[in-house]
Amino acid sequence: MQLAVTARTKVAGVIGDPVRHSLSPALHNAAYGALGLDWVYVAFHVPAGQGVAAVEAMRTLGLAGMSVTMPHKQAVAGAVDRLGPTAGRLGVVNTVSWSTSSDRELVGESTDGPGFIDSLRGDEGFDPAGCRCVVLGAGGAARSVTLALAEAGAASVAVVGRNPAAAETCAELAGPVGSGTGVADLARVVAAADLLVNATPVGMGGADGIPFGMDPNWLSTCHFVADLVYFPARTPLLTEARARGIGTANGLGMLIHQAARQIEMWTGRPAPLGAMRAAAVSALGA
Ligand code: NAP
Repeated sequence: MQLAVTARTKVAGVIGDPVRHSLSPALHNAAYGALGLDWVYVAFHVPAGQGVAAVEAMRTLGLAGMSVTMPHKQAVAGAVDRLGPTAGRLGVVNTVSWSTSSDRELVGESTDGPGFIDSLRGDEGFDPAGCRCVVLGAGGAARSVTLALAEAGAASVAVVGRNPAAAETCAELAGPVGSGTGVADLARVVAAADLLVNATPVGMGGADGIPFGMDPNWLSTCHFVADLVYFPARTPLLTEARARGIGTANGLGMLIHQAARQIEMWTGRPAPLGAMRAAAVSALGA
């Protein structure tokens, strides 16, 4: 339940362009309500090019925390005082927090990849440690997931992109277990995968097919397929995987867990995952 907003209420929010579609206010406000915190979370429409100004506004207004979405993740990484370890590797930030040692220092971190691993392990009971992983796509989400899978102990992380050079650059984040390749190699890498992750937007349209026109019969060794898309809840890729008895998850768990990590960083309290999931499902239904 949302508490009354008063002069003492702490304000957090998300910056982005566009931002009106964001589920973050639903997730965060449900969490603050469940925790009984006098906090409120709002969406700020910040046009492209104004990310640095938004960080300065956070200092001026004393916002308690700031989430960052497209197109500001890179600009904000250059505007905070310090980067956390994951943001330092990726060069992007989705979370800005006040440092615990000094009230005047802003720290940027990226919770997307760790949130993805939290959802796999916590919600799905699937541990990617030791797994041969394939990541489809080489954009921002793929970069976060590739790094997180390597840090989680994956045996290998093969990144497949329609631009092989971008796939190779992305795969470098996985260090010695990473490899990047183009779509021509798709059948070979998928045929040896334990875990497949779709980090392209293909599937968001519901009827726009499977990434790269992949033949789902290639998933013969696969134990789990994760799609970062969460609307629709079941993409064509997930439908095909389920039909073959493979475990599946859409991107809602990642969305919830990346926000949960933000809440824990900002408030020091464990995030109420059940209340957050219920709020997200209700907002998606609406
Ligand atoms: P991005 O930076 O724009 O990267 C998209 C990647 O997908 C690029 O490699 C792009 O290739 C590729 N791609 C785009 N359209 C494609 C197509 N029709 N066929 C094959 N490849 C295609 O986007 P992003 O931020 O990484 O997001 C990717 C997806 O993850 C989106 O659906 C987003 O909603 C989702 N996501 C979910 C969460 C979550 O919490 N669940 C978090 C972040 C992102 P090119 O470079 O060649 O264009």
